[in-house]
Amino acid sequence: MQLTINALSKTYSNGVQAIKNVSLTLNQGMFGLLGPNGAGKSSLMRTIATLQEADEGSVFLDGLDVLKQKTELRQLLGYLPQEFGVYPKISAEQMLDHIAQLKGVVNKGERKELIGYLLDKVNLAKDKKKNLGTYSGGMKQRFGIAQALMGNPKLIIVDEPTAGLDPAERNRFYNLLSELGENTIVILSTHIVEDVSTLCSNFAIICQGEVLYAGTPDNAVKDLNGKIYSKSIKKPEIQQYSKDFKVISTQLKSGDLYIRIYSETYPGNGFTQSLPDLEDVYFSNIIKRVDVNTI
Ligand code: ADP
Repeated sequence: MQLTINALSKTYSNGVQAIKNVSLTLNQGMFGLLGPNGAGKSSLMRTIATLQEADEGSVFLDGLDVLKQKTELRQLLGYLPQEFGVYPKISAEQMLDHIAQLKGVVNKGERKELIGYLLDKVNLAKDKKKNLGTYSGGMKQRFGIAQALMGNPKLIIVDEPTAGLDPAERNRFYNLLSELGENTIVILSTHIVEDVSTLCSNFAIICQGEVLYAGTPDNAVKDLNGKIYSKSIKKPEIQQYSKDFKVISTQLKSGDLYIRIYSETYPGNGFTQSLPDLEDVYFSNIIKRVDVNTI
């Protein structure tokens, strides 16, 4: 199964062009859509999920014309939106039962079995009677995955699912997501580089509506071999360093500023060569568009 996005564009009525000529090919497995806030990730996902129209371009899930065959696509889709509201005074079990009915599972016994399976999968079986309003952020996200998995989707879209989770919750959520990717196409949008390095076999960097990079995390990092240099400087020196070098990240370390720069050749100035990582890939791509200090 393959999702092919071809020359997709979308401009909102206020004139913001949120998606600019985006082309991507996604295979089974976990695909990370990485970009800063406002990059256009949600716009792209909502368009693929048929919740809004594109102005130009096409999206195909194998032979299915996603933008035209909306009903057919929705039957194959599991979607966890960025703002996933829950009814606070209803239990997880009741809510899933309701969703299952909406999805056309009419047989009560069948629904019970399905709900039991899903709650088990997202590790919420013991909390199934609790009202959703009492769930932690991580529990809500796991519940969100359970509802997205209803109906055995072939395409799963999860929009910024780890934002707001504490490290333990994020880990639990990673474990859950990593099991999904095998037989389905999972698109995960995030501004957190670790989400991609932990989970995704393929990814794209998107910024200001455009795809800046698409490939595997390994290759992306390899491409930067020998091109990342670092050193510690005094804070006020950053102005000059930003003028003289391509500073891709800065980090305060015991009062000094630890900076990493991109350079094709040895930059001198006491810099030492560093092993590149996916953060370097991300920042060296988006620095072309936005000031890293604003991210
Ligand atoms: P991301 O998900 O990467 O944070 P979005 O897709 O939400 O990015 O937003 C991309 C751009 O489109 C932003 O400039 C945002 O303000 C704008 N935008 C998003 N949704 C709408 C909308 N419904 N109407 C107008 N502008 C929007």
